[in-house]
Amino acid sequence: MSAADAVTDSLKRMRAEFGDVPGGRPADYIPQLGLADPDAFGLALVSMDGHRYSAGEAEVPFTIQSVSKPFIYALALSVLGLDEVSRWVGAEPSGDAFNAISLEPGTGRPANAMVNAGAIVTTALIPDTPGEPAFDRVLHCLGRFAGRELDVDEEVFTSEAMTGDRNRALAYLIRSTGTMPVDPVLAVDRYFRQCAVRVTALDLATMAATLAYGGVNPVTREQVVPAEVAARVLAVMATCGMYDGSGEWLLRIGLPAKSGVSGGLIAVGPARFGLATYSPPLDTSGNSVRGQAALRALSERYGLHLMLNP
Ligand code: GLN
Repeated sequence: MSAADAVTDSLKRMRAEFGDVPGGRPADYIPQLGLADPDAFGLALVSMDGHRYSAGEAEVPFTIQSVSKPFIYALALSVLGLDEVSRWVGAEPSGDAFNAISLEPGTGRPANAMVNAGAIVTTALIPDTPGEPAFDRVLHCLGRFAGRELDVDEEVFTSEAMTGDRNRALAYLIRSTGTMPVDPVLAVDRYFRQCAVRVTALDLATMAATLAYGGVNPVTREQVVPAEVAARVLAVMATCGMYDGSGEWLLRIGLPAKSGVSGGLIAVGPARFGLATYSPPLDTSGNSVRGQAALRALSERYGLHLMLNP
């Protein structure tokens, strides 16, 4: 069997092995997410030579949700630099749920850019330019990471906006501590749109592979963000990407990762690969149950844990 066939084969085996793992429920805080097929299970891997491997429902579209957060953090770091971004958002694991109404004691900043509070501020930091309004920059940035033009699921956006009082409350709380760079209404509108961008598991694997490959998309060969930015984003994903499950994840799986409420999950093997899974049932931390099971098995079987296999 060729090396390429072996990768596809192991993704297919993961799908067969973990496709029936019970437990978890698709998010249902908006009706569109509750309608997701709980049995859809896609896996994809993109290597540094730009090969794309997949199994199962790797081309089913879903909304990116929180998996967008590291990429917009990368955009903010590229545009403003680490010191300026760090004035507004921290880099400490919060130990709280993704949507916790909580800011860092002392600074009043959101704890990190992977939880909702920090992501709302991060996306708000992106300035309009004369030729390109801020949200277009966000959308184009996600598209460059994915290697294709992406669009917004308007129904999901509208639903998020109608039911997003908790995120709105967070945005106003952040303004009250002086760490909200724009009007809270504009900030959450942009954040809801960002969450509603449509992707597939194959897109997410390409995006993860771009972080793995020093900010260069290995499929299109475009330098999307500087190598240093990609590395810093991986550092924050490693400590904060799985919300209040981040420590346990780093302990057991040992890869920078990011999950989203629609069931997407990415993991990055620096200088090696980008991996993504899509499976809607979530655990109580808001992380995909089957995605985590498959990535844990891949990490153990192929020795992917960064600290165990330096
Ligand atoms: N749209 C979701 C929210 O803001 C995104 C959160 C997530 O994916 N965990 O609540």
